[in-house]
Amino acid sequence: MLRMKRRSFLKLAAATGAAATIAPRLASAKIEYPDYPQGRSGVAPDTNRGHEWRTSVCLQCHGGCGIIGKLKDGELLKIEGNPYSHNTHDYVIPKGTYAKSGDIDFNDERGTVCPKGASGVYTLYNPRRLLHPVKRVGARGSRQWKRISWDQAYDEIANGGDLFGEGHVDGLAAVKDDAPIGSGESDYMDEAPPEGYGPKKNQFRWERGRNENAPTTNLLHKNYGTINKGTHWTICEASMVHYHVFQTGGFNAWDLKNATYAISAGGNIYDASFPAQTQARYLSKWFLRRPGTKYVYVGPRQSKSAGPAGNTEWVPIKTGTDPAFGLGMIRWIIENNAYASDMISRPNPDAAAAGGYPTSTDATFLVKTDAPMGYLTDADGDPQVSKNGQIVKASSVSGTADLEGGTAGAKTVFTLLKERAMEKSMDEYDDICGIPRGTIARIAREFSSAEKPVVFQYKGPCQQSNPTGTQAYTIINGLMDRYWREGGISGGGSKAHGHVGSAEKVERTGITASRAGDAYAGAKAKPTKPWFPLQMGKGGDGVQTETFAGIAADYPYKVKVYWAYRSDPLFGLPRGNQIMNKVLSKVPLIVAVDPFMNETSMRVDYVLPDTTYLEHWSYMHTHPAVKHAEASVRQPLVGTVDHAGKTHTPINPDTRSVGNIHMQMAMKLGLPNVGPGGAGNGEGFTNDYEFWDLYFDNAKDAEHGYEVGHNFSGGLDPNAEHMKIGGAYGSELDRQDLGSGHHFSIYLDNVATTKNSLSGEYMNGLPYVGQIAGDGSPFEDHFDTETYNYGVGTNKRWQHTQGRTAENLWLMSLEPENGLEMNPDDAAKYGVRSGDSVQIENAAGETGRYIYKVFVTNTIRPNYGEVTQSFGHWELGSKDIDIEGHEGGGIKGDARVGAGSHIATLMMPDPAQEGPLDERSCPTDPVGGSAAQYSILAKVRKV
Ligand code: SF4
Repeated sequence: MLRMKRRSFLKLAAATGAAATIAPRLASAKIEYPDYPQGRSGVAPDTNRGHEWRTSVCLQCHGGCGIIGKLKDGELLKIEGNPYSHNTHDYVIPKGTYAKSGDIDFNDERGTVCPKGASGVYTLYNPRRLLHPVKRVGARGSRQWKRISWDQAYDEIANGGDLFGEGHVDGLAAVKDDAPIGSGESDYMDEAPPEGYGPKKNQFRWERGRNENAPTTNLLHKNYGTINKGTHWTICEASMVHYHVFQTGGFNAWDLKNATYAISAGGNIYDASFPAQTQARYLSKWFLRRPGTKYVYVGPRQSKSAGPAGNTEWVPIKTGTDPAFGLGMIRWIIENNAYASDMISRPNPDAAAAGGYPTSTDATFLVKTDAPMGYLTDADGDPQVSKNGQIVKASSVSGTADLEGGTAGAKTVFTLLKERAMEKSMDEYDDICGIPRGTIARIAREFSSAEKPVVFQYKGPCQQSNPTGTQAYTIINGLMDRYWREGGISGGGSKAHGHVGSAEKVERTGITASRAGDAYAGAKAKPTKPWFPLQMGKGGDGVQTETFAGIAADYPYKVKVYWAYRSDPLFGLPRGNQIMNKVLSKVPLIVAVDPFMNETSMRVDYVLPDTTYLEHWSYMHTHPAVKHAEASVRQPLVGTVDHAGKTHTPINPDTRSVGNIHMQMAMKLGLPNVGPGGAGNGEGFTNDYEFWDLYFDNAKDAEHGYEVGHNFSGGLDPNAEHMKIGGAYGSELDRQDLGSGHHFSIYLDNVATTKNSLSGEYMNGLPYVGQIAGDGSPFEDHFDTETYNYGVGTNKRWQHTQGRTAENLWLMSLEPENGLEMNPDDAAKYGVRSGDSVQIENAAGETGRYIYKVFVTNTIRPNYGEVTQSFGHWELGSKDIDIEGHEGGGIKGDARVGAGSHIATLMMPDPAQEGPLDERSCPTDPVGGSAAQYSILAKVRKV
């Protein structure tokens, strides 16, 4: 193995770290550092002798970095990067091989972690963790609790009764009813499809936040049989994934290490993205050090990754204008014949392979010019192209087809794309983006003349009601033959999944609470709320904002039990403040599973204390930006593991892992596929150790195993190779060898042939300019954009995730509060200076719950401000919590947890929907379901 010398590694790590250094920004903020150490014993141990290293996986973000914990006498002293994990460390092993134990000595060589990863020690030992199951005392939201036993909690949640002295409440057992939802459960039966909304058991809504325990957490809702599982996907990346999957067949990522010209649109990779620290390392250590490279960041707030240093540039476009930026680049590339004409003219994988290309495209496919504007197909449904003027099947062409033109009633995709791009001049595109004229043309020229250009996007372009900036950027890569090319876009990461079987098949049918994956087919002409026929989250992720807006309105049917796992929609959901008050007052039974008492947990009936991620078993794959086939095993760093007895006892013995909680609840309800024999074939499990042992061990079977050769034989046996080094870590993948036979779509036939549920109009198969309401109409039709001309958005800082990391005072001490970042021109206009306070009013006249402290900076464009995520908590341990029977009478709050402000409360109601404001979600992408988190129209007032 070629290892980096320790000294040079340190130098590079320092370079990476320096680029990401966090400086406290608010002059008025008082910086306090919590006492050290924060360990369980409270006594500083001798850290350098008698310690051991144990491997696991970080979960402070979704990046999946392998970690090693330094332990002494069972106490976690420190977290570092597992040097076997390529997320944290660069090393080389022969192609096609996997690292072996002994290749790297943990005492000699260690990988990196970001501040969030290192601070896991604090999260583990946080004195504000919930230590016992609790039940509310008095009215919901009264902040009064009492400790109960696990048996009591499971029994009451399962069986219901007069649980709070307020009358009878149905438990999960009673709600589990296979009879169809009818008028007793829904006031909207005239909006149901002919087959109805499904069984009454769909009135159990299961919801999760950050989770890497899916195989165990899913045991409850899946075996219960409810269609209603939800996640936070649509306030994260859902629309980007939808467009990627629709256009390229999967979610692939850039090869930043090897690109020569990289445009990042909205992806602030020195602060966030997946895995944040790895992409930051690739940029600092690989990309920017090679001569002739250039990195361009496109977005309204300057990323640390772009400038002012030499070969970087920040292009400060207005929020929501990525479709214009992308279409402008497309126009320039087409007008200047800078696209890969031969490659994009090959309409099927064989034709592409014959030309030496890994990817074919739909550029030559014919599209009907009358609605629905789908592909022109033959009687077999196969797309048609023109070959020398003859209409033939796309699949029959052996070389190229006609790129431009068409036939009667149809035009090629390329022709339509060209027409769309030509709808506006280059000056108009620059003007829409609010950047100097000539900028887009210059960037397009630089991009198209680079050896290995690539554009990649995250968050900003996709968390919009019109996320087709994502589509436009994907098209640019495709036009330039940058898919499955070195330095371009390709797969990576891994699909390492084990398997635990099922003894019985459980059907989950009906319509989800968010109407994900179903077209509206009711008797009423127009639905009350939007439906999302193309959303891929049916029974899986759903559309989170619409789920809760729907529950608030009892639409399309009433929800009777809401179960939240590490989810805090009252705090973090766009308009959560408006919508969740109704949800949390009307759902009859609400349960939360969490190590902490967050805003939502404080308003429920029962809170069941999860252990932290550092006490869990599970698996973690690696993101496709990391071009290695690898996957890590999460195992408890602390507590007592009895491998012979197959158990784990956590450090707080009355807490339980989320896997065990869901499994035990499922067993209490007598659900199939859990417990002894639950896995079928005579196999079963009664706790999460047994489950994961089986899960990993089954990966040795070809059917369930690791896709590139490694298996996890031995399960959780500490002597198994993957347990000794923390996972399976493979050599670097060769981009070209990653595959051929790929197909890339410029045009989205499925979108163009699907109707927007609220307007009844077909949607657009190509990118288009402008922000939209839920029915596709422009914002300008609904909002006073002259008065509300100040845009507000959000971002993540290096030390925080979306919402939950404020519990961690190591992280909060790095920057004790946030504020509204404001351009100096705006500050002069509003008469404010750093430290002053402002009120923000959105275009619906709402001012939300916060007053915002201003931070004046020229790292944000004029007429736009941003407020960093994770701040502004009013619970999560920021206040004392009374719990009868809990150590110390409850949880002692720390006000530092609650510093700062948040903008979810300011997101505007969708003007295309009717009904009260507390039942309306924000504008939402009708395709992928993403919430428009960067599109608040506002005005600002000094207070
Ligand atoms: S990038 Fe994410 S997964 Fe990696 S160490 Fe940081 S928080 Fe953990």
